[in-house]
Amino acid sequence: MNLTIHRGTRQIGGSCVEVRSGSDRILLDLGLPLTVPGADEPPATEQSVQALLTSGVLPRVTGVYAGEKPEVRAVIMSHVHQDHMGLAHFVHADIAVYATEGAWALTEALAPFLPLRKAIANRRTLPLRTPQRFGSLAVTAIPVDHSAPDAAALLVESNGKRLLYTGDLRAHGRKGYLYGNLIRDLAGTIDTLVVEGTTIGRPDHEPETEQSLEPAFMRLFSRQRHMTLIFCSAQNLDRIVTVYRAAKRTQKTLVIDLYTAFTLNKLTCLSDSLPQWDWPEIRMVPWGYQQLRLNEAGHAAFVESSKPKWIGKKEMHAHAGGIVLLMRSNRKMADIESELGDESRLVQVVWSMWEGYWAEDKYVRPFCETYGIKRDYLHTSGHASWSDLKRLIEGLRPATVIPIHTEHAAVFAQHFSNVLLPADGDSLSV
Ligand SMILES: [Zn+2]
Repeated sequence: MNLTIHRGTRQIGGSCVEVRSGSDRILLDLGLPLTVPGADEPPATEQSVQALLTSGVLPRVTGVYAGEKPEVRAVIMSHVHQDHMGLAHFVHADIAVYATEGAWALTEALAPFLPLRKAIANRRTLPLRTPQRFGSLAVTAIPVDHSAPDAAALLVESNGKRLLYTGDLRAHGRKGYLYGNLIRDLAGTIDTLVVEGTTIGRPDHEPETEQSLEPAFMRLFSRQRHMTLIFCSAQNLDRIVTVYRAAKRTQKTLVIDLYTAFTLNKLTCLSDSLPQWDWPEIRMVPWGYQQLRLNEAGHAAFVESSKPKWIGKKEMHAHAGGIVLLMRSNRKMADIESELGDESRLVQVVWSMWEGYWAEDKYVRPFCETYGIKRDYLHTSGHASWSDLKRLIEGLRPATVIPIHTEHAAVFAQHFSNVLLPADGDSLSV
């Protein structure tokens, strides 16, 4: 087998890995980089393939994109996060793009809210734990715990060799047991481990478990004098479950928006314990632009059916002490502020996302500054700690370790003797 990491050997985001056996080629992930190469700005993708190749946003891989002769057998996604899947819509329509059921469900849920994004043409479902053949290569998706639904590590086999690409994974989420299962099931069988190292820059950091956030949320909800606003991703299902459980146990009403309600509804295929809009403790705030997007995308029936659970700003205001409102940082902050007026200073704000987003935030941070609100921070990472990564490497005992999705690849080589540190684009025989 031959391995080329087109992007990811020295950066977080934009992952793209090629595996070849003879003339059979596959790609694992085709992610959007966090910034335009050589610049400090986020990439805009409403451009031609040629323009994106020139700017370096699209990695230079032949036989993959629309407008070329298709030469790749399949493009296979580890999970739905943009830095792994965000360029998949540039794949040639004759090449199949594989992702798990949950990844496609979330893609569909987001589509009405991203009307400008091109659809991925040739979608195929990647079943879990079932090898898929692509010529002389076989790929098996192995479920992992991550902050994206239905994430998978990808085991690639060819001619008796086995390569495991971890994608993104962790041991401290609600499905953290999958981490131990992965080690147990594959110990001693892996030749090459391509392992994510997102958290390596924080070697001593021991993340909280997702479960341990629940009592912390409960403490905050118990002491709220007014509304609690929680800022988190609707795609972080573990977190939604945590907030829901904490709200229920403190007799608060959890208010979600139409976007979150629609997303959770699309993901019922994954679990029937995901909170849903029609559950008794949940209400829904129907922001106008979200109604518009769903109606335009043909989901008027969903909007209509949810009406009995709608709650307006005035009603939330009247019952503020009993309301936990799940928000995203956007212009809707101004709506809340205009309804509450000077009472805004009584609001409790919980930031439940990566701390880096707080530094860049344009809506919530100024709101907190204006009203002298000291925000609370309750979050845990989607990525394995350094001690868990060491446990993975020591447990699997691969012949070769290759770091990816990290800015600190060299740290692996300081701790293990079998680490290779290729540059982006290097071709390795594995
Ligand atoms: Zn991820």
